[in-house]
Amino acid sequence: MRKPLIAGNWKLNKNITESESLARALVTDLADITETDIIIAPIFTALNRVAAIVDGSSIQLAAQNCYPQETGAFTGELSPTMLKDAGCGAIIIGHSERRQLMGETNEFINLKVHATLNSEMQVILCVGETLEERENEEMLEILTAQIKGGLVNVPAEKMQNLVVAYEPVWAIGTGKTASNEQAQEAHSFIRGLIQGLYSPETAEACRILYGGSVKPDNVDGLMAQADIDGALVGGASLKVEDFCRIVKFEKAGH
Ligand code: PEP
Repeated sequence: MRKPLIAGNWKLNKNITESESLARALVTDLADITETDIIIAPIFTALNRVAAIVDGSSIQLAAQNCYPQETGAFTGELSPTMLKDAGCGAIIIGHSERRQLMGETNEFINLKVHATLNSEMQVILCVGETLEERENEEMLEILTAQIKGGLVNVPAEKMQNLVVAYEPVWAIGTGKTASNEQAQEAHSFIRGLIQGLYSPETAEACRILYGGSVKPDNVDGLMAQADIDGALVGGASLKVEDFCRIVKFEKAGH
């Protein structure tokens, strides 16, 4: 059984004080959650202060990005180890906004995956097709390239520290969610890719999150799908009530 994981990507929102107060509210409201893993990813400058707030709570801290070098002449960048030092246990890698706005390639993303895993931190590897790619029936090809490209030379034993997030680009921040069936189809395909690269056991153990306008009113249906193990939440993760309701999604059959 895969433990559900709900992760909140705060993106470029909330200053340090606002991040602290959002984190405090979540720590209080989610104190008794043990059946679901919870991650929040504030802006870099708030990480260390938020780390002190979530310390000892049910919430883990993630960074939204990293650079795949430990130290050196890389102005403006942060290594996984430095982010670990600031209190992070995980890093979001390959978010579509970084692929699209910062031109990140699968090769570069693969370097970050290695650097993060080598620092013994958890990777949340984001993949997903654009609307144009879906309409051109290139979705499976794109997902294959992103999964295979992101996982080049990642050994099976490190896969236990890697979570995939399927985020169709056309559903991110648009209010359009993939239907339960569309999401399940993509997740099942991704699990099949991981099985092909590794083994049925590795694929079965790997958590695959859905991301793209996840809200309190659609989370239950998404989470009822066989291959959806959690959510990567953008906009709704900035609202205490919405994020808490998403974390406390209703399990199918209850
Ligand atoms: C995201 O940023 O990963 C995301 C899914 O955003 P939203 O929930 O706002 O669509």
